[in-house]
Amino acid sequence: MQKHKNIPFFIPHSGCKNNCVFCSQTKITGYCLPESDMISEAHRLRNVVEESLQYLNGGEAQIAFFGGSFTGIEPERMVLLLQTAYEYVKDGKVCGVRLSTRPDYIDDSILDILESYGVTDIELGLQSTDEAVLKAAGRGHDRDVCFRSAEQIVKRGFRLGGQMMIGLPESNLAKEVRTAKDIVDMGAVCARIYPTVVFEGTKLYDMAMEGSYTPLTNDEAVIRSVECLSVFRKSNVEILRIGLHASDELARAPFGANHPAMGELVYGEEAYRNIASHIGQRDTYDKTLKVYVPPRLVSACAGVNGRNKERLIANYGFKAVKIYKNEDVSELKVIIEAEE
Ligand code: SF4
Repeated sequence: MQKHKNIPFFIPHSGCKNNCVFCSQTKITGYCLPESDMISEAHRLRNVVEESLQYLNGGEAQIAFFGGSFTGIEPERMVLLLQTAYEYVKDGKVCGVRLSTRPDYIDDSILDILESYGVTDIELGLQSTDEAVLKAAGRGHDRDVCFRSAEQIVKRGFRLGGQMMIGLPESNLAKEVRTAKDIVDMGAVCARIYPTVVFEGTKLYDMAMEGSYTPLTNDEAVIRSVECLSVFRKSNVEILRIGLHASDELARAPFGANHPAMGELVYGEEAYRNIASHIGQRDTYDKTLKVYVPPRLVSACAGVNGRNKERLIANYGFKAVKIYKNEDVSELKVIIEAEE
């Protein structure tokens, strides 16, 4: 569950000289950065921050540069954006700056710049730590680069975030779980899991059309994501997001994990498994299941559109399933009562 608030500033595809097979940054972020001058971009950043601060408690918010590869943009432009953001850090209006970038766009001189402008968190778009997957996805760097840049980030005292994808070409569940474990071992404090969506106009779309790539179904995406989620949970790595934000473009994506509530589906699956583990081998047929959960888990336990309730009835033969909010239960813990 996300504890901090972001003031996002998107830099779609800017600074990136690559063309990953799945990438459709303009579609993901919904707009395309014009060839504008740096001053007006910094001005736009100021507007975004000022507007957000009207309804956010800035002391708990971070300015977040997302989209594209922030540390790959022209250095003067990057510095101007950082200077603009840093004004708000120095004034105590925000608590820091975070950004996402590629592993191969990190070195000590870049980290020097980031450090001097109040950057606290660096998220690496790792996607996978498997050599064959990185190659098939057209990432343009090998797995050693992932580990090296993560090590530099952690050594310098930045908080590391790891972003990974599910269902890339040449990937499978074992490789994805391995990637999640690698992200933990790198020292990441937070992670994002993105099941692959196939957008029109991408290389992946062509691969899917010609049959050299089989897109994930939503169900596969959920099952594979929940296994990675479990790896992160065990190591207390905060999950910032699962799945892309809902958008018209996402809804129009022809293949892959394009469900608008992918995260909720995954958390629902996690909750279902938790409830199932508490039921164990008990006699359930024609009984009522009462599940007591902390407030934050009520909707996950019920599942998207009540699907967990339906599954519990179908799979266990319960007469009814009732989910109760219980303020006294603080951890991920389920209490079950079965009655005649
Ligand atoms: S590195 Fe990021 S922005 Fe660049 S092509 Fe790949 S996914 Fe797109």
